[in-house]
Amino acid sequence: MASGWFELNCATDYANRTPTSSQYTAAPPEGIGAGCALWSMLVVRAGARVACRRRNGRLVVTKKIKAVLFSVSGGAGVTDWCLNTRWRQQRLVILCYHGTSLADEHLWDPDLYITRDRLHDRLSYLCRKRCSVLPLAEALERLYQGTLPPRSVAITYDDGTYDFYRVALPVIRGFNYPVTVYLTTYYSDHNQPVFNVMLRYLLWKARGQVLHLPEVFPADVSLRGHSLTEAAAVIRQFAVQNGLSGSQKDLLLVRLAQALEIDYDGIRQARLLHLMTPEEAADAARSGADIQLHTHRHRLYDSIRAFQAEVEENRRRVESITARPANHFCYPGGCHLPEFPEWLREIGVVSATTTVTGVATKASDPLLLPRVIDTSNLSSAEFAAWVSGLAALLPRRQHELNMGPLVRVGADVSAELP
Ligand SMILES: [Zn+2]
Repeated sequence: MASGWFELNCATDYANRTPTSSQYTAAPPEGIGAGCALWSMLVVRAGARVACRRRNGRLVVTKKIKAVLFSVSGGAGVTDWCLNTRWRQQRLVILCYHGTSLADEHLWDPDLYITRDRLHDRLSYLCRKRCSVLPLAEALERLYQGTLPPRSVAITYDDGTYDFYRVALPVIRGFNYPVTVYLTTYYSDHNQPVFNVMLRYLLWKARGQVLHLPEVFPADVSLRGHSLTEAAAVIRQFAVQNGLSGSQKDLLLVRLAQALEIDYDGIRQARLLHLMTPEEAADAARSGADIQLHTHRHRLYDSIRAFQAEVEENRRRVESITARPANHFCYPGGCHLPEFPEWLREIGVVSATTTVTGVATKASDPLLLPRVIDTSNLSSAEFAAWVSGLAALLPRRQHELNMGPLVRVGADVSAELP
């Protein structure tokens, strides 16, 4: 709490705003006329189409081209203009975050973790641009009613990690912004590191070394390049084939850390890659975080009974922690089958977010909502382009569904239990 910005209280305190206040008045930014900006926006879109490549019959704008376009758009004032249009006002940007580093997690997985400074920069940007950061439930209600205030944004966090509680929440509360956290309750109850995630982290910590773990690998493994991923896959497979329980998996991680001479006790004490305990989640809820659903064990089933039981178990746990209703859901790993929205609707879930990148509109299925996934690899110009809605106008790569969290009926479910 040493730095002064924790005292910062963004003018967009959602609880004290009215939609008619002058902060919602849409106006083109200084130095750029609306007509000029519109033409610039069309040029950006046309430029993207000219510069893009065709892949599998679809137009794809490469990351480099996008970076140039967004940077030019920002400099020319097009991004700001777009942010303040009526068109943008009919859209909701749902930001998606996973973790905020306690140590070096952002160097390990920049798609999952950002630094505290990066998070602060993002929220400062929303504050500077007078974005209306709304609680998710209110934002969705107003999206479908057509009463969103200008520049609407909702902030969501997946999984409910300890670093959210320790690092991200104080930053978010410093801006007086609401936040929704999708909590997966098994690892919260047991306060163990998530096995697959910790496994990848430990192997990354030891990159370049040679792993000697005879109980799993018949020969030593050099942890370089692809062999890191392959080693993680072999160890995961070993755990599944041997039906290891949660505590046995943790012992395997201890053994792996010993073999790699990593201070696993230190990592555990610092609670890296751990989830919030139920007490911490309750405390987060008391300080304003909206705790919602993410399945109990971070998994989904292709059978309706097992699927709904998994969500209901998660809901029971979340509601017992927060004493508030939990009706908003996030698909673990962004995994969703066509039947899932209906299965969720049947048990009273009113919204579900995905990892499909995009901006929500009135036409979006409330149980298949797109989000903007913010990562360490997303530049400031790209972030601004997404917040303004401009990035949604460009052709995008087809989303590839992650089927990792899906358990097929008939699979040996007990062997998969953490
Ligand atoms: Zn998740």
